[in-house]
Amino acid sequence: MFPIIPKPRNIELKDGEGRLTRDDSGGANYEYVYDPDIPYEGYSLKTEGTHTVLRASSEAGAFYGETTLNVLDDMTGGAPGAFFVSDSPAYGYRAYMLDVARYFFDTDVVMKHIDYMALLKLNVLHLHLTDDQGWRVEIKKYPRLTEVGSHRRRTHIRFKAHCGYYTQEELKKIVAYAHARHIKVVPEIDFPGHFQAAIAAYPELGCCGEGLRVAENFGVKFDVACIGNPVVIEFMKDVLSELIPIFTDEYFHIGGDEVPFRRWEKCPKCLALKKSLGADSWHRVQAHVVNELADFLAEHGKTTITWNESEPTGVQNKNIVWQYWQGGLSEEKLAHEINEGRRVIMSPGEPFYLDLPYSINNVARMRAYKLVPDGVTAAENIIGVEFPLWTELVPDEKQADKMLFPRLMAGAEIAWRGSADTDIEERFGRYLAVLKRMGAKISEFKKEPRGFMKILDRIWWFRRQLYWGAVPNLIRNIKVDKILKKRNGQLKSDD
Ligand SMILES: [Zn+2]
Repeated sequence: MFPIIPKPRNIELKDGEGRLTRDDSGGANYEYVYDPDIPYEGYSLKTEGTHTVLRASSEAGAFYGETTLNVLDDMTGGAPGAFFVSDSPAYGYRAYMLDVARYFFDTDVVMKHIDYMALLKLNVLHLHLTDDQGWRVEIKKYPRLTEVGSHRRRTHIRFKAHCGYYTQEELKKIVAYAHARHIKVVPEIDFPGHFQAAIAAYPELGCCGEGLRVAENFGVKFDVACIGNPVVIEFMKDVLSELIPIFTDEYFHIGGDEVPFRRWEKCPKCLALKKSLGADSWHRVQAHVVNELADFLAEHGKTTITWNESEPTGVQNKNIVWQYWQGGLSEEKLAHEINEGRRVIMSPGEPFYLDLPYSINNVARMRAYKLVPDGVTAAENIIGVEFPLWTELVPDEKQADKMLFPRLMAGAEIAWRGSADTDIEERFGRYLAVLKRMGAKISEFKKEPRGFMKILDRIWWFRRQLYWGAVPNLIRNIKVDKILKKRNGQLKSDD
């Protein structure tokens, strides 16, 4: 058995001896040959006797070839036997997302996750930097974003105050560390929903920002950005302007998911914008605003990514890449959008979210998922695959590692090969020691629970619905309705 994950796409095991020798730094020796016929990120490896040849056409390909060789060396004690491997990825966008907004993970932990990604040949780190529960990135023009927005008075599962953010210097360090491992970094500033931490810092960013705190509980919040207020768009452009020089790769993520229209429906500024656009739905108004930011990013050479919305409006700029997470969008509508030219990253909550319990998102389900939905005739518009770790219920590194492994390994193989091979679970075992040596806080790999434990696991997951913010939203709503009524009354008497 060839133990590598992701499994190379072509493996030929040969008779005869194959032994690796090591250089002074402990890496396996090889002869490097530049080979323009090998695809970008691809490589080939041939070991016979004590001679190994690595061929590639890019630095990334050479890096992956070396990774395969070193892991093989480690797992076989330097004696893998004679073999020939040729390998290249099915998708150019192989991503892992870490939500650092709900719980903050410091620079050292992020760099460790980058190491895991490099081991598994994942090449895009998506950092979910802002949300209702925290703003985690220093913005020099708006210091209150971190002074106020990075502090949560109380968390949801440990009921403790929680804070933390990255300075711009730390983010540069993360990006450089990732680049050295051929990993791109995609920052996400979630907008116009999941925006409460920003409104807590600067109340004028909301339709009714008075008295709002950084969210303590989870769930979809009604207080979203006031898109009718030009100040808000200027704010977003200022924030993006500070981040563009730090995140030097192509893609920028600006959220766009789970936006309740409740505040907009009662906000004079938002209503005025809707009227001036002649829009027949709030989805269309949102699409216009997102387009403006996407245009701004495009002027700076960036491609915008958003989470898919439930309703494709036909207004949203076709160059915006969608991260498909579901959110009420049927596969039929998705297929239509892809065929019409929309580029898409596949990361359906089920089965690819790594925070869901193993009783719901298990390796078998991940393997069975069809990356190309029925009805898609332009599969080339599916640019890749992503595996997000949301941290609503992941307060620390130990819990994160438990949720990541072994599923991220299966994910990496799906992203690299287009599907995970049938024997993947047999290959997990040898990676335990490797990951532990790299600092993973796991003693064994998590298994899918059986029988009664499976039921308990699901109850544990669905109990979070109790926390989902329905009651706090309701209380807040009564308060806001009162404020808006008073304000609208004043507006009328001013007339
Ligand atoms: Zn508004």
